[in-house]
Amino acid sequence: MDELMVKLDQPRYRADQVLHSLYHEAPTCIAEIRQIPAALRAQLEAEGYTIGSATEARRVMSKDGLTTKLLLEMEGGTLLETVLMQYPATDGGHPRSTVCVSTQAGCAMGCVFCATGQMGFERNLKAEELVAQVVGLARVLRARNEHITNVVFMGMGEPLANYKETIRAIRLLTDARAFGLGQRNITVSTVGVISGIDRLADEDLQVGLAISLHAPNDELRRKLVPTANEHSVGDLLSAARRYFKKTGRRVTFEYAMLAGVNDSPETASEFGRLLRGTGIHVNLIPVNPTPRGHGRPARRATLEFERVLREAGVNCTIRVEKGTEISAACGQLRTTEGARSVAVSSAD
Ligand code: SAH
Ligand code: SF4
Repeated sequence: MDELMVKLDQPRYRADQVLHSLYHEAPTCIAEIRQIPAALRAQLEAEGYTIGSATEARRVMSKDGLTTKLLLEMEGGTLLETVLMQYPATDGGHPRSTVCVSTQAGCAMGCVFCATGQMGFERNLKAEELVAQVVGLARVLRARNEHITNVVFMGMGEPLANYKETIRAIRLLTDARAFGLGQRNITVSTVGVISGIDRLADEDLQVGLAISLHAPNDELRRKLVPTANEHSVGDLLSAARRYFKKTGRRVTFEYAMLAGVNDSPETASEFGRLLRGTGIHVNLIPVNPTPRGHGRPARRATLEFERVLREAGVNCTIRVEKGTEISAACGQLRTTEGARSVAVSSAD
């Protein structure tokens, strides 16, 4: 942007104005960048500059208004999901508005309970497409006089299998001249790409790491994450320790709970023994049922699992249920959108 402004004979602060507008106001065309003089807008348009933008194909909001999901159509027609989850302030805390970003269209990892995994892999997304999701939801929030406080790379796709673009997006989102979010307000979630975890630890970024473990042993994990073969649970634990040592950031293990599969008290004890003394935090996620997936455990079973882990000295939380009625789990909106279009076309 600096070079462009120099080329156009403009002062450098114009670059800051354009960047601020692009990242905070999400203009859809150059005419909407109101901070810069009309003459400069006209010059940019005359020279053929445009703003690449995503089109909102669908927006759904949960009944409580705390979850908003956008289906965005990128240039070239790729459909992407992005979700905004809002958490009211708890005692002494601040309210949070978290965006869940997709890093790939589809995913090659094939986790059995995941709607995205069942779609297969389509393509990697560019950093700009990752940032567009955050900016798109920032615009929704601005209309309510609110702003984004956190970003989690937990939408469709495996961020560490699209490493370069994910890192580029993190740098844009945390650059003070661009989106300006704190590194500590970003979390990358991975199914366990160990080479990617080690690279991320070396980036000199202060982002949080979540590893989707889902099972305390390899036999059970392979049933849920069919591509897990090359990495054992032990390898993932070592990678988590290395990440913590290098960055000082606490690592979370995510554990999607599937009724009758990985939710028994015995499994909880085994998990507790594995994690005792590691300082790793566990986030239990009662699964959002998917058409081909598994069911959610009874609340009693989830609470019992949590109790057993806590008794073993493991720090553990149960994820607040969000957006089930709007298919907010990873890949579900795009799947229902697909089903809807099929239904519409077959009714024609
Ligand atoms: N590929 C990365 C990030 C995207 S998935 C990963 O697997 O970590 C983000 C999280 O959503 C993962 O922890 C995954 O297990 C969880 N998830 C996928 N499908 C789900 C479902 N149907 N219900 C609840 N959580 C789900
Ligand atoms: Fe891919 Fe994550 Fe879904 Fe597994 S859970 S299929 S890694 S998006």
